[in-house]
Amino acid sequence: MNAEPDGPEDRLRRFATIWSRAVFPVTTTSSTRPEFEEQLLPLARRLSEALRARAFDADEARALGAALVTVHCTDPEALSRTLDCVDAYLVLYCGGDGDQQDLRLRASRLQHAMAAGFAQALRERTRAEQEAISAAALKAQGVVAQALHASEARFRAVFEGAAIGIGMADLDGNILQVNEALLRMFGITEQTMLGRNVAEWTHPEDAPQTWTLYDELVRGDREHYHVEKAFSRPDGTALWTNLTVSLLRDADGNPQYQLALMEDTTERRLLNLRLRYEATHDALTGLPNRTFFFERLEKALGAGKGQRFGLCYLDLDGFKTINDSLGHAAGDRLLVEVADRLQSCTTAPGEMVARLGGDEFVALTTGPDTEREVDELASRIMNALVAPVSVDGRELTVRGSIGIVEGPAGERSAAEVLRSADITMYRAKASGGNRFELADEEADARAITRHGLTTALPTALDRGEFFIEYQPLVHLGDGSVRGAEALVRWLHPQHGVLGPDRFIPLAEHTGLIVPLGRWVLEQSVRQAREWRERHADAGPMRINVNLSPCQLTHPGLVQDTVDILERTGVEPDALCLEVTESALIGADDDLLKPLRRLAEMGVDIALDDFGTGYSNLANLRRLPVSILKLDRSFTQSMQQFPADPVDLKIVEGIVSLAHSLDLAVTVEGVETGAQAEQLRILGCDTAQGWYYARPGPPERLHELALVDATG
Ligand code: C2E
Ligand code: MG
Ligand code: MG
Repeated sequence: MNAEPDGPEDRLRRFATIWSRAVFPVTTTSSTRPEFEEQLLPLARRLSEALRARAFDADEARALGAALVTVHCTDPEALSRTLDCVDAYLVLYCGGDGDQQDLRLRASRLQHAMAAGFAQALRERTRAEQEAISAAALKAQGVVAQALHASEARFRAVFEGAAIGIGMADLDGNILQVNEALLRMFGITEQTMLGRNVAEWTHPEDAPQTWTLYDELVRGDREHYHVEKAFSRPDGTALWTNLTVSLLRDADGNPQYQLALMEDTTERRLLNLRLRYEATHDALTGLPNRTFFFERLEKALGAGKGQRFGLCYLDLDGFKTINDSLGHAAGDRLLVEVADRLQSCTTAPGEMVARLGGDEFVALTTGPDTEREVDELASRIMNALVAPVSVDGRELTVRGSIGIVEGPAGERSAAEVLRSADITMYRAKASGGNRFELADEEADARAITRHGLTTALPTALDRGEFFIEYQPLVHLGDGSVRGAEALVRWLHPQHGVLGPDRFIPLAEHTGLIVPLGRWVLEQSVRQAREWRERHADAGPMRINVNLSPCQLTHPGLVQDTVDILERTGVEPDALCLEVTESALIGADDDLLKPLRRLAEMGVDIALDDFGTGYSNLANLRRLPVSILKLDRSFTQSMQQFPADPVDLKIVEGIVSLAHSLDLAVTVEGVETGAQAEQLRILGCDTAQGWYYARPGPPERLHELALVDATG
């Protein structure tokens, strides 16, 4: 720091700092800002002196302008900022105590002269650069003319020794000179190369803009261009290159030659193609794989107006059996054969076949007319599978199920289309396989929820998503609550509470009904014990639990039931198992055995939904049942008043027959007091329905039972 903070030296430095800060961002210097300030400081000093000199020295001012160019202030913006600085700060910081008006005048003259000096220096510099360029062009010309001077020899060394191909041609495309590397790349001799014309090198895979760029360059409208380009070698193979072509101008700036630099990318490209092939093809069958197929499908779906797509989703029937019994090697050979046959079905343009995985294949057809084509395609595929496949000397019959989706482009996503095809294929399988089915949006929607629920079912039990509601069974004679039916519900995380009709068929289908049924039984029996303990005075409370047909055939039924009763300490006569009438129609003795065992132990068996299954009334004697549950349809027919006398007669007949067989009669679906009264008169024993209570939580039953006991 200066001893005198506000001395002239300090002020000069301040000016240099401001100036360097203003100009530094627009310089081309490689110095740092402080370094740049040091370079400006002597110029600032000279400016300061020129400001206060007695006579104005225009040369010095111009020299200062020129000096800007030497400190890399070549951008016009650098000059402009310099002049602004001089205008605003030079007098302020460097004017001393001179006359302000004089100083201002001097500063403005300085600015004009500096600007002139700057412009001239810049012109000179540009000319020098251009001369260097023309010298280089001259050198290049020299190469062509085979002039032998030192710099040309150096250029030649670079030219010849380069690993990349270099070639020079005139503006008509006549090849004048090429290096060794380029000859090696093309696989031809120098003699054959020289005298040929660039225009001969068109290639079928040339990008559309390649030759436009070329024309612009030789016309002089473009200095260089860069493309990826293939050339045909004499042996017929393709040479792929990264090609850069530059225009060489003569000393006057007129286009003179074109210089091409090319890098051989053939290997890299082949490797890329190979990697891409592997990423998009199935290793076993060589067919396009899922990735490739999705690309194509997405393209087809993104095609313009009037374009359609048709898709056949094929899954072989019973492939797992072949795999399991004959081994994977045999399974693989079968898949390869199937793939070959499918390939021969899709030869038209716009058609393709792919393997999605396992024994799943897809065939795609695109274009405006797929509505007709896709059916033909599916038929061709079915036909192609007819002849047996010979594997290891065995003739294997191949069958497949096909789901077809067809539609206009631009409406659905690839994933939606594939899901619809998948569901449709399953529909074809479910109707026996060896056929094709057409997608149907309504059937899709049903299947989607069905499918979703099926997959969520197994975990739902572990996650505790099921719960039970209880609906009281009321004695028609005295109105007391005698028990309750357990009705399971599923609190689905997305769909909310689902009734048993939504998921019991699925649970039966997947086998989950066995653990689920066991869980319902255990929960309900525990609930029954709790009622008994808390309301011993309210009379014996019984619990009705529904059994699926699948549970009937499950070998663990009797043992599981006995275990649960023992574990909970509930007497067998507190439990009633409801079995639907349809499950017992035509049941043989083997099927009835477990029910009979349970009945012998004291468990009641109720025939649920009685009256819906046309069972032979005389047959009732054979069955180990003690209760008939009359279906809701009987109750419903009593809704109007007066009730249909024929219906009344039927119910009356059923009740008296049941009683004569020592069976109790329960009625379901009682919704009004009138119905209840009518059914009581007809001699029914117990009733269940909304008139008494809807199914609800177990606590509700406590209240009902208590009301009955006290009332
Ligand atoms: P279900 O055994 O015949 O059960 C009676 C059905 O009638 C219940 O339907 C009940 O809510 C309904 N309901 C009761 N009172 C009335 C009424 O007054 N009017 C009308 N319209 N309906 C009434 P939910 O709960 O939907 O059960 C349907 C079926 O699902 C049951 O028919 C039963 O076969 C089955 N189910 C329920 N829980 C289980 C279970 O834990 N295991 C098995 N395997 N099946 C079950
Ligand atoms: Mg029931
Ligand atoms: Mg029922």
